[in-house]
Amino acid sequence: MASESHPVVAVPADAERLRRLNDLLGLVAERNAFQRARLAGLVPLERLEDLARLPFTTKDDLVADQAASPPYGTNLTFPLERYTHLHQTSGTTGATLRVLDTPEDWAWWRRNLGIVFRAAGVGPADRVALAYSFGPYIQFWASYEGAQDVGAMVIALGGMDSPQRLTTIRDYGATTLLCTPTYAIHLARIAAQNDLRDALAPVERVVCTGEPGASIASVRRQIQLGWGARCLDHAGLSEVGSFAYPCDGCGGMHLREDEFVAEILDPETGEPVADGETGELVVTALARAGFPVIRYRTGDIVERNAEPCGARHPGRWLPQGILGRSDDMVVIRGMNVFPSAIEQTLREFEGVGEFRITFYSEPTAMDEVKLEVELARPLEARAIQAQLRQTLGLRVRIVPLKPGILPVQVGKARRVADLRPPRVERRARQEA
Ligand SMILES: [Zn+2]
Repeated sequence: MASESHPVVAVPADAERLRRLNDLLGLVAERNAFQRARLAGLVPLERLEDLARLPFTTKDDLVADQAASPPYGTNLTFPLERYTHLHQTSGTTGATLRVLDTPEDWAWWRRNLGIVFRAAGVGPADRVALAYSFGPYIQFWASYEGAQDVGAMVIALGGMDSPQRLTTIRDYGATTLLCTPTYAIHLARIAAQNDLRDALAPVERVVCTGEPGASIASVRRQIQLGWGARCLDHAGLSEVGSFAYPCDGCGGMHLREDEFVAEILDPETGEPVADGETGELVVTALARAGFPVIRYRTGDIVERNAEPCGARHPGRWLPQGILGRSDDMVVIRGMNVFPSAIEQTLREFEGVGEFRITFYSEPTAMDEVKLEVELARPLEARAIQAQLRQTLGLRVRIVPLKPGILPVQVGKARRVADLRPPRVERRARQEA
């Protein structure tokens, strides 16, 4: 690690990370009611690896705590008056989770998003357009702060439709666009349809987050071709912080191991996966003391990769970024299927528009995958089917549609429907 360097990130030795982790654990075990019970008798740690002895934290744990002690719950290390920032996110069941930050923790967010921008090559000469709605969600505000941290000018695109956003980007000469990968593709398409291609010209880089995809080669290529700009990826969560910065040399992302202890675990067993295998990313933020999460199950599926990137940047390299969400993963006839893998294959073909994936059960109780996809050339369906069989090892039923039939998905895309009966019921039917 010591030989690796980056203009903006340096990962300290394990002894220093352990010291910081024990400082955090000691503080929260003393002052945080939610954590005290969970950590009793387990801290301090002797080695970094001993973190694996502590219990996981899930979003459901935090939602349940806030339901029992509304509205803010008990995962608060300090008295309420110490907190200055309130954001929210939605739980897996749709329940709202509130996340609070102290001025110190918010400054940490700002620094971390600043690192994302620096790693993406954004500086004082840049104008950063944020294609977000500026609701109560942390990503918008943290990105705003991060752009300020590097001295860039911020152009907020809240409250505008897509053509208005494009003309704003053009008129103000935005050099950098922040949005989800889905929206980046959508906006380039809107520009082509509305004779607004000149709006894309000033943009030098598209910095994506919010959903998997921007590190997947075919999606990145589509964004780069559509915008004539570089596509960079980063990742974070309201409950955790900004935990991965873009690799500007080799694509993908690097984990911020200077600020987080990261584990990559089998979602079923909780055991570490081997190099080359995929697992769920579990992170512990070393510095966010006000609303701490210890061993937080992000639900993000990544491939464990032992190789450094070609530029030898610090922090574990995730060449393909986040592959999918553990709650999106669908088991079809014993195979793990990520909708993002289907998207990756689709994006390798020209003339592919919107699509919809449906998982369903045949009366024989056999699970099937149906892919409805808008195709400029319907005959391409056969080639797509062959490619999907090769990459997924599954036969996918393809329904070609005329372009413009499916609803356009923007933001966090919802293109997947699972119509299969609950697993227990399916098993009973299979055994019958
Ligand atoms: Zn790198």
